Amino acid sequence: MTTDIDPAWTTEELSSIRDGLVLAAERLRAEIAILDTASAQAVSASTLEVLHDEIDVASHRSELMQDAVQLENATAILEQTEHVLARLDLGLYGVCERCSAAIGRPRLEAFPRATLCMTCVA
Ligand SMILES: [Zn+2]
Repeated sequence: MTTDIDPAWTTEELSSIRDGLVLAAERLRAEIAILDTASAQAVSASTLEVLHDEIDVASHRSELMQDAVQLENATAILEQTEHVLARLDLGLYGVCERCSAAIGRPRLEAFPRATLCMTCVA
């Protein structure tokens, strides 16, 4: 039985994984830039007291909250993506950063940004 052994990633596989991560990072940076601009504009709008209606202010606030949550999520995912890219460049893609065990292909295929094995995540 050799099915449990994690075969080494081929150069082609690593290069396509890397491309996917780089692309994801670019998309996240673009998304963060848009969210940043949106929240900056929202701040200047409220400073100018453009919104007088209470309902408008309330819905505007909830939009701001959503943007803030999205911005936080996108920033966290971008950090994780850059972290995985750095590990990939060190030749450590698919290696658990806590116990150094192989993370395993099925998990990495489902979560290409995983840096911990199932045991360490649990
Ligand atoms: Zn581990």
